[in-house]
Amino acid sequence: MPTALRPKPEADILRKRARGAYLGLAIGDALGATVEFLTPREIRHNFARQGGVHKEITGGGWLHLKPGQITDDTAMSLALGEAILTSGGKVDALACAHAFDNWMRSKPIDIGNTVRRNLIRFRQTGIPKALPSEHDAGNGAIMRLLPVALLTSGRDEAEISAAFKAQAHVTHNNPLSDAGGLCLIHMLHAALEGGSWDALKTEASALESRHTEYTWSQARHQENPSGYVAHTLSAVFQSFFSTNSFESCLIDIVNRGGDADTAGAIAGALAGAWYDEAHIPSRWKTALDKSVVRRCEEQAERLLDHSALAPR
Ligand code: MN
Ligand code: MN
Repeated sequence: MPTALRPKPEADILRKRARGAYLGLAIGDALGATVEFLTPREIRHNFARQGGVHKEITGGGWLHLKPGQITDDTAMSLALGEAILTSGGKVDALACAHAFDNWMRSKPIDIGNTVRRNLIRFRQTGIPKALPSEHDAGNGAIMRLLPVALLTSGRDEAEISAAFKAQAHVTHNNPLSDAGGLCLIHMLHAALEGGSWDALKTEASALESRHTEYTWSQARHQENPSGYVAHTLSAVFQSFFSTNSFESCLIDIVNRGGDADTAGAIAGALAGAWYDEAHIPSRWKTALDKSVVRRCEEQAERLLDHSALAPR
């Protein structure tokens, strides 16, 4: 092969990070779902024979999952990614709303209340934008944002913000959700583009100083993170910044219990982008549903092809 056609090393590492992020999302979801809604104390008790720590993808949990099965967090991300790709690499609110609605029609095993309520409203009105609501500060719009982060890496702020809000506001039209989502996208971009640990921390700290709801650096160890976006993301930041590997980050976050699958999915995307695919424990990748692995890897590649970072 002529040298000019060979992928550059930069492109190669970018793909490893993007695939790591998408696989990390699915792994965090599948791992966390086993202990969703448990308290850390209940987890220590239930996993006493494993040293009091939950660390294998075994299914089960309140949803009675098969080993390797994923939940709404990964399913909605894949639906969004598919909508973006069928729209030719654009985040079109109406296409996103139809994709989420089609997913809801497939009778998913779990679905958030805000997601359900605003998708039903979309069916009635045809308007792919929820009414602004101070109560809709759940984590549902940020748990699924990874496809937008992959697509918009290398783009300018206005484009990033418009793309995020087009998908987010279908179900969550809320300023705290917007702030958390945009912060997470910027952290994912920094990780994908090879930014420093301090660059990621600066983003997370800026969110905390702008919105006091997001206390993570000074706060106590956040246990039982709820579905409230500020609780979820604060727990994710504590786990990410206090660990030094993909595996330890994911084990730390899911053993906090609470909304463990969603916190796990968000932490998994971030840690997967930061540490890259090569540092994901192979036992977790092997345990994951095969068709999910294939779809995550394929979407990561194709979304990156549409991004401004794609090698031309
Ligand atoms: Mn879920
Ligand atoms: Mn959840």
